[in-house]
Amino acid sequence: MINVIPIPAFEDNYIWVIRNGRCAAAVDPGDAAPLLDYLGREGLRLVAVLNTHHHGDHVAGNADLLARFEVPVYGPKREHIATVSEPLEEGDRVRLPEISLELAVLDIPGHTAGHIAYYGANALFCGDTLFGCGCGRLFEGSPAQMHASLQKLARLPDDTLVYCAHEYTLANIRFAKSVEPCNGDLAQREETDRRARSENRPTLPSTIGLERRTNPFLRCDQPEIIRAASAHAGMDLPDTVAVFRAVREWKDRA
Ligand code: ZN
Ligand code: FE
Repeated sequence: MINVIPIPAFEDNYIWVIRNGRCAAAVDPGDAAPLLDYLGREGLRLVAVLNTHHHGDHVAGNADLLARFEVPVYGPKREHIATVSEPLEEGDRVRLPEISLELAVLDIPGHTAGHIAYYGANALFCGDTLFGCGCGRLFEGSPAQMHASLQKLARLPDDTLVYCAHEYTLANIRFAKSVEPCNGDLAQREETDRRARSENRPTLPSTIGLERRTNPFLRCDQPEIIRAASAHAGMDLPDTVAVFRAVREWKDRA
């Protein structure tokens, strides 16, 4: 079991810190300041930075961190991030001996063209691809790509802990209920996650199992969702990707 700490940044980002002993790695440090505060307070040495994709709210802290710590910066091979020293693609592994952790790299394009995820020790760091009860917007990829990426993540073990980069869960649940109003797991999730937010706790990590039961973007093969998406789009949707596209466009305009 790894020790993962959320560092809130900006409005709703989480920088995930993986710590072990006196060392720590940081995932998607969009802002160095809150992370440096935390590392200083806890007496931790940064040993690596891991980026999932090129957006500023995930990488803009890299340079300030490099000014303080001489560390490798891992990131997607298919995107240009000036501070990345270790470009990665699916099949590569990230070895972090200082925190006794090894992570596999998954290609999950859709939100951006080269977006990657890190998976290991029962944890998934998935950036802006899979969110609590939602998924990222399609800025650079096609619906077919994003759908395939989400299905790849959905095939991980049910108990995999899902560390998303944003606290969007409650708004996503609101939308999910309009797509799938009769999903009892979703109603239960809303109660749990509402309580978490009212007590100022993150709704994350979630699990792959919970996402499979409640996240409409992983459930485009479910009859209730096919019906709702077809009704909303005003046409028959020929396949699961068409259903996914319709639900994504519905959410974009909601
Ligand atoms: Zn992003
Ligand atoms: Fe983001």
